[in-house]
Amino acid sequence: MNIALIAHDSKKELMVQFCIAYSGVLSRHNICATGTTGKLVEEATGLSIQKFLSGPLGGDQQISARIACNEIDVLLFFPDPISSKEYEANEMNLIRLCVVHNIPIATNIATAEVLVHGLERGDLDWRNIVNPKTRV
Ligand code: PGA
Repeated sequence: MNIALIAHDSKKELMVQFCIAYSGVLSRHNICATGTTGKLVEEATGLSIQKFLSGPLGGDQQISARIACNEIDVLLFFPDPISSKEYEANEMNLIRLCVVHNIPIATNIATAEVLVHGLERGDLDWRNIVNPKTRV
């Protein structure tokens, strides 16, 4: 599966801790991320991560484009709910594209855990049927 990670600054440590905790599961999948999130998670976990541009430079839109092409199977997006007003349009677009393409998305750690457990259990294997061309 192709898993995308995006964390705003105040949630980056949470994303890093989450990825450390679930590095065993994540290591069996393709991970991509916005630049800084990817760098921090890669350094902390040793996972190999495809890093796009930093979010404010367009990395979240690069991930949005992959979602639009139905190439992302799970999005873990931890936004800062307090201070991210300037990026709201991009965030809404990201979420909207997940709605359009029926992509499982978690916007907090509680749901992220459910998705990762579901991934491990095979609950998301239907993505291999709707999107077989992006399997590696
Ligand atoms: P970053 O991007 O991982 O490059 O910081 C995330 C964001 O803030 O949109």
